[in-house]
Amino acid sequence: MKPVIGVMPLVDDERESLWMLPGYFDGITAAGGIPIMLPLTSDRYVLSQIIDMCGGLLFTGGHDVSPSLYGEEPVNKTIVSSKERDTMEKVVLGEGLKREKTILGICRGIQFINVALGGTLYQDLPTQYQSGIEHHQKPPYDIPVHEVEILADTPLHDLLHRERLAVNSYHHQAVKTLAPELKPMAISEDGLTEAVYKPDYRFLWAVQWHPEFSHETDPASREIFRRFIDFAGK
Ligand code: MN
Repeated sequence: MKPVIGVMPLVDDERESLWMLPGYFDGITAAGGIPIMLPLTSDRYVLSQIIDMCGGLLFTGGHDVSPSLYGEEPVNKTIVSSKERDTMEKVVLGEGLKREKTILGICRGIQFINVALGGTLYQDLPTQYQSGIEHHQKPPYDIPVHEVEILADTPLHDLLHRERLAVNSYHHQAVKTLAPELKPMAISEDGLTEAVYKPDYRFLWAVQWHPEFSHETDPASREIFRRFIDFAGK
């Protein structure tokens, strides 16, 4: 039996539709899992029933996390959040953790998980974190644009056996203060926390870069998907 992975839906506000980037599904499939997109709902009963069917949960990229979740007002008009996603993902994360599900966050995923567990974000990197490093690259998105340092004695280091990794970068926000239950696994060359894990938990990892865009070209991206699916199937 392959593990089923519940994937958070992407929301297109203009078209009033849900959608999916094939990279998330392809990365999961190539690593041996079966992806399904969750419905956009915050119905705890419905979500719990689906989560029970899943070995793992993937928190995808997309909208900014609403600053109200960490007690701030938006700093400017660039902050575009989705109340539906924020509300839904709070339920999914809570129920998923309760059931010790395998959890991976990507981009918004690392931001949302950090906030849900008590951390804060830089809301708008271009105005709040000027460093000269590109964090919002132009396509193609599988090309690395900056490096991260992979911290020793972390599960990511155990997986990749290296101290530095070149990653793609396409994010508007980033971790500011880390949630108490999370530990950093990778730091960008300008000092942003770009990968985290939850040490007291089976498998909760989150990365700020985009393995779903680079899993075909980058072995490290494939390794991350594979480790996620391996745990989801245990
Ligand atoms: Mn970056």
